[in-house]
Amino acid sequence: MFAEVAIARASPRTDKIYHYQIPAALNSQIKIGSQVLVPFGKSNTHGYVVGLIEHTSYPQIKSILGLAAEQIFFSAEQVALAKWISEYYGSFLISALRLVMPPGTKQAEARKRAKKPASKPEFRDSEDTGLVTVTEFTDFKLTPEQTIALDAIKQAIDNKSSAKFLLHGITGSGKTEVYLQAIAYLLEKGKSAIVLVPEIGLTPQLVQRFRQRFQDHIALLHSELTIKQRQMEWERIAAGEAKIVLGTRSAVFAPLKDLGLIVLDEEYEITYKSEKSPRFHAREVAIKLAEINQAAVVLGSATPSVETFYQAEKGAYQKLILPVRIDHRPLPPVEVVDMREEKDRLLSQILRVELKETLERGEQAILFINRRGFFSFVICQECGFAIHCPQCSVSLAYNTTDRRLHCNRCGYKNVAPLICPRCQSSALRYSGIGTQRIENEVAQIFPAARILRYDRDSVNQRGKHAQFFATFAEGKADVLIGTQMVTKGLDVANVTLVGVVAVDSALNLPDFRAAEHTFQMITQVAGRAGRHHLPGKVILQTYAPQHYAIQAAAKHDYESFYQQEIKYRQELDYPPFSRLIALIISGKAEEKVLKLSEDLGHFLKKRLPEQVFGPAPATINKLRGEFRYRLLLKGPEVDKMRQALRETLEKIVIPSELKLVVDVDPMNML
Ligand code: ADP
Ligand code: ZN
Ligand code: ZN
Repeated sequence: MFAEVAIARASPRTDKIYHYQIPAALNSQIKIGSQVLVPFGKSNTHGYVVGLIEHTSYPQIKSILGLAAEQIFFSAEQVALAKWISEYYGSFLISALRLVMPPGTKQAEARKRAKKPASKPEFRDSEDTGLVTVTEFTDFKLTPEQTIALDAIKQAIDNKSSAKFLLHGITGSGKTEVYLQAIAYLLEKGKSAIVLVPEIGLTPQLVQRFRQRFQDHIALLHSELTIKQRQMEWERIAAGEAKIVLGTRSAVFAPLKDLGLIVLDEEYEITYKSEKSPRFHAREVAIKLAEINQAAVVLGSATPSVETFYQAEKGAYQKLILPVRIDHRPLPPVEVVDMREEKDRLLSQILRVELKETLERGEQAILFINRRGFFSFVICQECGFAIHCPQCSVSLAYNTTDRRLHCNRCGYKNVAPLICPRCQSSALRYSGIGTQRIENEVAQIFPAARILRYDRDSVNQRGKHAQFFATFAEGKADVLIGTQMVTKGLDVANVTLVGVVAVDSALNLPDFRAAEHTFQMITQVAGRAGRHHLPGKVILQTYAPQHYAIQAAAKHDYESFYQQEIKYRQELDYPPFSRLIALIISGKAEEKVLKLSEDLGHFLKKRLPEQVFGPAPATINKLRGEFRYRLLLKGPEVDKMRQALRETLEKIVIPSELKLVVDVDPMNML
């Protein structure tokens, strides 16, 4: 017998599958997923068995030296998934395999190489624990729409078909309840499920509902856990103790047996896309994983991504619709305020009045500003100079807590200058809108209000999210001021007013999804108001009241937003009408970066006429001291684009001082 081995070394040269002879003595021990020691070049190295074969045509085959660990690191299905990821996203196979290995494997490998004693955890072999009995639980009586949705999902589970669903329902329409009952059904059948959420810290209420319902059948997997904690959860999953995995994007790689269902909540969220290699999107991985396991996939959202909705329109997903809130609670009315008439005021007259009345009634309010592109900049009124980070091409943000300028990209900090570095004028002004400025203003107008500010500055410790949520949910604060983080998962009965203070900057970002993101953001935060018995209201402040994203959001009208947006996408030939691959070339020496970018562009243009754009400086043209240039491939057939890229990279050597990042289906256009 021979083994197909992936060498534990991420480099272009070693990114192949190698064949090794399995010595007779090891025949029964070496399996797919085994970690082995193999001769490689002039030394020995670790590798992972990804396949077993009877024959090989390679001459001079070498022999495996030994088993490096007892443990099985991944299954044959996981190998299939990793191979697909490495093909689709153009990553090394070993990097894709790392995703499906138990947490900490790489560190343990490094320790072994250094001959330090390993403190690797014990992984028990999976044993079938049989059917799961879930503690007595009275289900809600489902609405007719929920019933239709649940029945369709149940049927897919019974048929073991890799059916794909889009569960489209406004916030509060009962999507989560459908997930819960589908999973309860699945457990009765002895199957398991993965539930993915965009960010765990932001969904404590969802986690709590799952816990209440399924107790310790749940394993949590997310990046806020330590490696040890993750290892323990991984072990419970591999051993079949936990049949439901709840977590963020990497939880899609959990070693579940008998997978029956994958749920992605809020599938449009950009956190589902990994921003380091392999740059996978959890939605695409989930769909592939479901195919491999014949499991069902449910994408749930109030504001599906334009790509997903388009696929559903074409019939690639079965649409399940929850058109109204439970108990027909109305969506809160949205009042659009034209800020051009508010003379530089942060909080419009209307918002002040509403806030006052809300506080007088003893109810709660949320004030939202968009994090992306909205900071307090220091700008010179004489010459217009904005103080930049010396390492990155972004403006520095003023932080009123430590009274320093911060770079939101690289963490650079410095005291704010007193005079303009360019023209020496002392007319420096703090512009832009930050959560801190809103906090100051609200505190001034309503000195008695208890204010809670929630952003990356105020919530930077592990577990603090949950604390914040609890404080607000228990009514210990009247006004919550925050960025994107407050738009998600928060379900507080006493919240009756949502003020969208500033959101427009998101419309102006050089990203073809800018309108989509803005629409989704407003819809999300608007959905926080009036979720229970008290009626809610939303004040939407904007400088672009006529924009279709604003107009549609004000009417809670996904359909009309989608119809406009899809027209633009078609006119400009953006996804879903084309596919994109972004290349970012970076390095310290700008001429070298530009030269390589041009060379790559030249080669690619020969193979893909009309489909190569750039090179051009990236929107963030300098990051951590490195210059960045961008090439964009845009065309109807991603396979052709990939092929052209592969051929190009075989011809062009990337100098070691430069970096090339290949991003298939990029979400981040900056
Ligand atoms: P979504 O996930 O779409 O925001 P949820 O599932 O959280 O909606 O439902 C909104 C609220 O309604 C929750 O408090 C939930 O417990 C409740 N709920 C859901 N389904 C029902 C039902 N069929 N009958 C009564 N209450 C329900
Ligand atoms: Zn910086
Ligand atoms: Zn100046």
